[in-house]
Amino acid sequence: MVVVVEQNATEIEIEGIIRILHDFGFDVHRSTGVNQTVLGAIGVKPDFDTRQVEVLPGVAHAYRITEPYKLASRSFKQEKTVIQFKNCEIGGDAIVVMAGPCSIESEQQIFTIAESVAKAGAKFLRGGAFKPRTSPYAFQGLGEEGLKLMRRAADEFGLLVISEAMDGTQLELMEKYSDVIQIGARNMQNYNFLRELGKSAKPVMLKRGLSATFEEWLMSAEYILSGGNKQVIMCERGIRTFETATRNTMDISAIPVIHAKSHLPIIADPSHGIGIRDKVIPMARAAVAAGADGIIVEVHNDPDHAKSDGAQSLFPNQFEEMMRQIRVIAEAIGRKIA
Ligand code: PEP
Ligand code: MN
Repeated sequence: MVVVVEQNATEIEIEGIIRILHDFGFDVHRSTGVNQTVLGAIGVKPDFDTRQVEVLPGVAHAYRITEPYKLASRSFKQEKTVIQFKNCEIGGDAIVVMAGPCSIESEQQIFTIAESVAKAGAKFLRGGAFKPRTSPYAFQGLGEEGLKLMRRAADEFGLLVISEAMDGTQLELMEKYSDVIQIGARNMQNYNFLRELGKSAKPVMLKRGLSATFEEWLMSAEYILSGGNKQVIMCERGIRTFETATRNTMDISAIPVIHAKSHLPIIADPSHGIGIRDKVIPMARAAVAAGADGIIVEVHNDPDHAKSDGAQSLFPNQFEEMMRQIRVIAEAIGRKIA
């Protein structure tokens, strides 16, 4: 931590700051310039609250110089995390596409969509069996019945399964039917749940919270990693901003920033990211261009009658077109679609 002392601080105040930093367990290195004193506080204290120093008399600012997360950081592990699956890997050179409906609605629906997305080149079938809906009166998902249908549909067409668990009570089912456990934006800071996921043997895709900073998001990944589960995938799904023309603001910058800060793979969700069907493909292109390790996108055979998120779901032919376009972009940056 770097502590900048106020220009008019007295020597007694500066000595007081140094004494307290020592009490906190830091080694202190003092640099005294003509008008300014700066204190370097050295010590590994990932959970230290810099405000405890900022409130001291004579302190102008206190800045953390190391990240509060460790296992998730690039400085801890330089090489990218690559997660292996039977027909692809996430975090390697190839970009993985996950596609399917927002919610699993019926056998006919999930089989129809699975067939079309598999044909177009998806590797994962997505679909919610437990849905975190804003309204308690909205469709909440088919539960285990939905997971069974999705597993069968995925197996039939050679796909892997990704589905959301909303709490620890659903983990057993998810481990049984799903290849990756999705953690929704609304649960990104459910710390007890994150700790439970740390004990799971399944990879976890952690969606960014609606207004989470990169640091908060990586701290949530740290909960899972520190519990022992090293298979964490980040997912940018749009954040809440002052803009009202789109459902969310798709933060493409998350892709290079997370890659710089962390070794974990990052997938982009342009469907929730922008929330309007005709803008999903441009956002998918942008995400691939920015270096995303994968795309997760909502596709529905009859989006006008979908039980959730129909307005942001692609028609199957639009999904084919998205695949065609992102293949071109992947090639332009020296990658390919898995
Ligand atoms: C979803 O994937 O359908 C979903 C509910 O996502 P999010 O948690 O990003 O809102
Ligand atoms: Mn959805």
